[in-house]
Amino acid sequence: MKSINEISFNGKKVFIRVDFNVPFNDSGEITDSSRIVAALPTIEYVLSNGGSCILASHLGRPVGKDTELSLKKIIPELKKLLRKDVMFLEDSTGPQTKETCSNLQNGEIVLLENLRFYKEETKADIGFAKELSSLADIYINDAYGTTHREHASTATIAQFFDEKAPGMLLEKEIGSLKKLMEKPNKPVTAIIGGAKVSSKISVIANILGFVDNLIIGGGMAYTFIKNNRGRIGDSIFEADRLKDCSEILSKAKHENVNVFLPEDILCSNEFSNSGLQKVTNIYEVPEGWQGLDIGPKTMEKFEQVILGSSTILWNGPMGVFEIPSFEKGTHAVAKAVAKATQSGAYSLIGGGDSVAAITKFGLQNQVSFISTGGGAMLESLEGKLLPGINALSQ
Ligand code: AMP
Repeated sequence: MKSINEISFNGKKVFIRVDFNVPFNDSGEITDSSRIVAALPTIEYVLSNGGSCILASHLGRPVGKDTELSLKKIIPELKKLLRKDVMFLEDSTGPQTKETCSNLQNGEIVLLENLRFYKEETKADIGFAKELSSLADIYINDAYGTTHREHASTATIAQFFDEKAPGMLLEKEIGSLKKLMEKPNKPVTAIIGGAKVSSKISVIANILGFVDNLIIGGGMAYTFIKNNRGRIGDSIFEADRLKDCSEILSKAKHENVNVFLPEDILCSNEFSNSGLQKVTNIYEVPEGWQGLDIGPKTMEKFEQVILGSSTILWNGPMGVFEIPSFEKGTHAVAKAVAKATQSGAYSLIGGGDSVAAITKFGLQNQVSFISTGGGAMLESLEGKLLPGINALSQ
């Protein structure tokens, strides 16, 4: 796979697949523009090296054309952040678009309309991909969050370009996963939390191949404890996943991976901030009570393991951190990850909720890398080849 530094952009039109799928509030204002900010270095790199940019993205999940989901809405923010004019093309294909793109001068930028207005996009339609490709000389994919999707603009299009590469954001994402999955500094610790075992079972099964320690917290821990014949009261658990937990634990034993499950937990008789609360052994949660965070002994144990690690992966909170009473465990883990990073460990954080958590605690600048792709990162961790990355090497 080529690097963006190996491509000459001078006088070239560059199709950049970005991820401008940003959230809006009810008044139509962008509530978090970090995805746009994350795409700026690549756009600026192309422009400063004499190229012009044809930006393409999706926004939401429209069924056909839907003005609510028009990318036109992000033009003011994009102009403001780039401090440059950006032309908007109401149609992503067709003669008018082709003409505008062919007249594009070095340093100019156009943004195409939401690619998912065209059903061909998600169907990976080859004709649609070819038409998009005819607008440009070079293809850059910088939308890590959609690389696990085999769509026209994320995968099919690449075959029509001789010159193609990951953008600067995607290159960083690929590099961070390599640091974790290929010859990482040992010991490697994975901290996996969140609500359900079912959503992360394939991730856990795959990472057992390269981690030394596996910390399991959050709601998913209770299915493991139930499998170990613990009494979990009314805690969340998945009856159809007990066998999976059993298999994970025997695979971990076989691979010499140390598994750390919570010992004590903070439980409540209500899923809220205002119920009664107490710390119990995780194997002895009373009926009518549910575990909503890890307890103090567990926090100490997890911190100790994290601080002794050279490479750390964190995906998923240790408890219901959205409710203040149950945020302490996730906060303790976030602080330990930041501290380990300060002492030289490499830390990679991914998955929507752990990113939200680390940001809530203001520690987002104290870890090595925060991945921008939830689903894409989980699929990479499952050991899958992502179509959007694979297409850049063909
Ligand atoms: P996930 O998307 O699978 O990473 O799950 C994240 C969600 O898991 C968060 O919204 C947490 O509130 C929730 N969660 C974490 N621990 C628990 C728990 N012990 N009981 C119920 N939900 C939990």
